Amino acid sequence: MVFSYCQCNRHMAGSDEAAANFYNSHFIPRGWQLVYCELSECGAIHLTGYCKRCYEDLEEMILLPKGLAGDDLLKSIYNTMQTAHPYDTFLPQVGYHGLCKERSDFYARRDKRSQFARSKEFLNLFHDYDRESARLWLEKNYPLQPGEVLRDTGGSLFCTAIHMARENGDFGKAEAILDYILPCAHETGRKEQVELTAYEFDFEAHLNWGGSEGIYIDCYLTGKFDESGRFVLPIGTIKTLKRDLEAAKIMGELCGVLTHYASQYVNQNLLRYTPEKELKAKN
Ligand SMILES: [Zn+2]
Repeated sequence: MVFSYCQCNRHMAGSDEAAANFYNSHFIPRGWQLVYCELSECGAIHLTGYCKRCYEDLEEMILLPKGLAGDDLLKSIYNTMQTAHPYDTFLPQVGYHGLCKERSDFYARRDKRSQFARSKEFLNLFHDYDRESARLWLEKNYPLQPGEVLRDTGGSLFCTAIHMARENGDFGKAEAILDYILPCAHETGRKEQVELTAYEFDFEAHLNWGGSEGIYIDCYLTGKFDESGRFVLPIGTIKTLKRDLEAAKIMGELCGVLTHYASQYVNQNLLRYTPEKELKAKN
C-alpha cells in the first residue's frame, strides 16, 4: 500500500490505483522500518526507499494481520521482512521479476543474507524499550553461532534496568509519581541509539533538580562503552512533576535501584559487551 509521495506522483494522492502503478515502475526499496508508539499497537511494517526518477523518499506500507501480540507479532514482523516483495513477482527459475531491476536486486540481496545479518537488521527495527524482548525472541528462534552476539544499545540497557526493577517489585513507588520515562535521551533532548561494544563503563544515575518543575533522574554510561573514544553517553531520563521531600526520597532510592539492576545485568551478560576484536580472537 502506497504510504508516501514524491514530486512526480503527489498529484496521484487519493487515487490508489494510479499511485500503485507509479510505485510499480518507480519504487526502489532501501530498507525496513517499524512505525509505532506501543509495540502492541504495531499493525504494519514499512518498506522505505526512493523514487527512480527524482530520488525523493518513498515508502510502501505492508499491513500485518490484525490482533497479533507477543511472540506472534514478532514472528509476523520477522517473516514479512524476510519474504514480502511488493510490486515484484517471484519466479522459481528467474528469481524476482518486475519493472525496476534495482528493486528485484534488493529482494534478491535480502534473500542471500546470512541468518546473523537478518537477526541484526530485525533487532534494529525496535525501539529501545522493546529491544530486549525482540532479542530474546530472536535468540530462541534463530540461535546464534559461536562468536556472534546481538548488542544492547545505551537506551535498551536503561530500559532493561527499569524492567528488572519492575519485575522485582522495586519500581512501584516511583511509577506512581512518574511523569515520563524517556530512553536514550536526557534533559537537553539529544537522542541517539548507540550499540554497546565494550564493558569498561559504569552506569550512573544522577538526581537532577532540573531547571523547571519536578525532579529528574538522568542516566549515563561513563567510561569505555564502544570504540568511538567518547567517555560519556546519556542513556535515559525519568521525570516526576513532584518536588516535595517524599518525591525526592523516592527518586533518590530509584537511582540506587537502577544502578543495582543495570550492574547486575551487565555482569551477567558480559559476552554481549565484549569488543569485536576479543570475540574474534576467542573463536
Ligand atoms: Zn519522484
